[in-house]
Amino acid sequence: MAEHKLQIIPLGGLGEFGMNSLALRYGDDIILIDAGMMFPDEELLGVDIVTPDFAYLEEHREHFRALILTHGHEDHIGAVPFLLSQMNVPVYGTEFTLALVGRRLQEHDLLAQARLNQVRPGEQLEIGPFRIEFIHVTHSIVNAVALAITTPLGVVIHTGDFKVDPTPTDSVLFDLHTLADYGKRGVLLLLSDSTNSDRPGYTESERAIRPRFEDILNRAQRRVVVSCFSSSVHRMQQILDLAAEFGRKVAFVGRSMTSTSEIAHAHGLLDIPDGILVRPQDIMDVPPAKLLAVVSGSQGEPMSALCRVSVDNHKNLSVERGDTVVLSSRIIPGNEKAIYRMLNHFARRGADVLYGSLNPPLHVSGHASAEELRLVLNLARPKYFMPIHGEYRQLTKHAQLAEHLSRQGLDEIFLLESGETLELDRAGARKGARVPVGRVCIDSGALDDIVGDLVIRDRRHLSEEGFLLPIIAIDKHSGKAEGLPEIVSRGFISEGGSELLEEARHVVARTIASSTAEELTDWGVMKEKIRVDLRRFLVKQTSRHPLILPVILEV
Ligand SMILES: [Zn+2]
Ligand SMILES: [Zn+2]
Repeated sequence: MAEHKLQIIPLGGLGEFGMNSLALRYGDDIILIDAGMMFPDEELLGVDIVTPDFAYLEEHREHFRALILTHGHEDHIGAVPFLLSQMNVPVYGTEFTLALVGRRLQEHDLLAQARLNQVRPGEQLEIGPFRIEFIHVTHSIVNAVALAITTPLGVVIHTGDFKVDPTPTDSVLFDLHTLADYGKRGVLLLLSDSTNSDRPGYTESERAIRPRFEDILNRAQRRVVVSCFSSSVHRMQQILDLAAEFGRKVAFVGRSMTSTSEIAHAHGLLDIPDGILVRPQDIMDVPPAKLLAVVSGSQGEPMSALCRVSVDNHKNLSVERGDTVVLSSRIIPGNEKAIYRMLNHFARRGADVLYGSLNPPLHVSGHASAEELRLVLNLARPKYFMPIHGEYRQLTKHAQLAEHLSRQGLDEIFLLESGETLELDRAGARKGARVPVGRVCIDSGALDDIVGDLVIRDRRHLSEEGFLLPIIAIDKHSGKAEGLPEIVSRGFISEGGSELLEEARHVVARTIASSTAEELTDWGVMKEKIRVDLRRFLVKQTSRHPLILPVILEV
């Protein structure tokens, strides 16, 4: 076989937070590891999700063989529907990862044609010149794996996301033996998770939250409402077990929480004690002292169940004076405002609100701190090391953790950002040519509604679909909306235009009328509600997606 070079091509997740995706190319064969998304920040109004630009893969689509998934977090699988709708390559992942991917694909009507292949830790897979072994790792989601990829030039280890939890709640340990075996035989390149590289010491075990929750349940006289990431099956399990011990019923509230718990249960990954579950519609019939609700929306997303509960606009659950609200999750940077706004609502309702870092903790990270990263480096003992998954400061810190290995066979550390590439051959390793990368903003989760790269997004969107500015005047003193909202539009439909806009004004008015007084004081929530309702109305009437930018004026 002619000798080729091996290329490592990060398309996202290096030098930025989220949308992890990295391609490996040897000769005419390309595999992609993960296809994640990023949540848009507040500057990206009118956009629902952000995914990597897969232009490089499209350009080389005849060589693109497969997508390999490390685990089911959104920053690793969120862009899968978008990718498969353009290039329907086979997908490989573990059971729970594929179950979550399947749910996403179903939402986009892509499940039937998708080629999903389940793999198990310990299994090996051959794709072209790559032999891939899946290695079980511990992380804040079940069924997470690292990859050992044997290429004609040597072994590449990709850790995925991990921590080294010595006492995981499901007792399935990080398979450090297999990692060490590869290390003994020689690892060419290690790609390792840098998310927590700036934290010294060790990340606490998932079990560390138990004492805190025991304390909360010992004290609570009334309802306890817990929010965590809906993918945290380990966390859900601990909460279920504690609820059973304390004689409380459990209700899962919110679409993602309900559906993930059902998926995890169906796959035997979540053990639900008999008779413990309450249907959402029966929640308020359970005596407050006997209820524990697990609710999605820990990031304060305006349309989430938790956010609706905070403004007393959820159909099944109310939080009242003396209830306890627990945020068992981290605050993702960029979401602070929305989260604190939501917590203020709960505090005003008279709830005891618990959040942030406490000791013992309410939440533990799923990512390895410095000493665990060192352990993995020491076991893998790579010739080359490239930190992945993190902003530049975290990649740099991770590189510093590897410096002591220079006398243990580590030749060079490469700090790359998305779009830069690494090239390896018999002569060594070096940075290679750049490839096109970028962000693609997707509105309304509809795949036919991709709005291009940031710069051209607005321009294209505006020229093709136009925009609408619903203008809502709210009385400063009464907090009530003044009259019928105005709607200013540009470039949006002509036929029956004025009638449609007239109706749209009433749609906005109805949204406002159906909102609680508390929601009306929260403009972030109101803008999102108006945007969602108006979009639904317009898509139904016209099948078009204009940019909707609600404006709220205090008068
Ligand atoms: Zn991640
Ligand atoms: Zn993860």
